[in-house]
Amino acid sequence: MATIFSKIIKGEIPSYKIAEDDDFYAFLDINPLAKGHTLVVPKVEVDYYFDIEDTTIAKMNVFCKRVAKAIEQVVDCKRVGVAVLGLEVPHAHVHLIPINNLHDINFARPKLKFTDEEFRNIAEEISKNI
Ligand code: 5GP
Repeated sequence: MATIFSKIIKGEIPSYKIAEDDDFYAFLDINPLAKGHTLVVPKVEVDYYFDIEDTTIAKMNVFCKRVAKAIEQVVDCKRVGVAVLGLEVPHAHVHLIPINNLHDINFARPKLKFTDEEFRNIAEEISKNI
């Protein structure tokens, strides 16, 4: 069965898209730790991040860099933190999270709430900088 992220990539489930190429899809996390919290997923369905094939995982890092640089243009932060967990969705993905301190990337924290319009505006601003 297709993962929820494969359905998002195919457009069967809506998402706040940031960027896409032949191999990867980036979109806002629906339960963000910070404004601009973005997920980057490979289009190929692999559960565990370190099972991604060598060439793809290397290209994924370059794609993440492009997205992180765009996030930095829009969100006021010290840097963009990177996390890989995969405890919830069995489709490998990288979290890109704008941070100012260690606390900002603590996944045990309550998540932020944004309206549909706010999510759309954030995604639009970041995607303009890709
Ligand atoms: P992880 O698998 O890395 O532990 O967590 C999965 C992440 O995906 C969570 O941060 C969660 O908010 C996000 N997520 C789960 N389902 C959806 C969804 O349908 N849309 C979006 N945009 N994010 C999701």
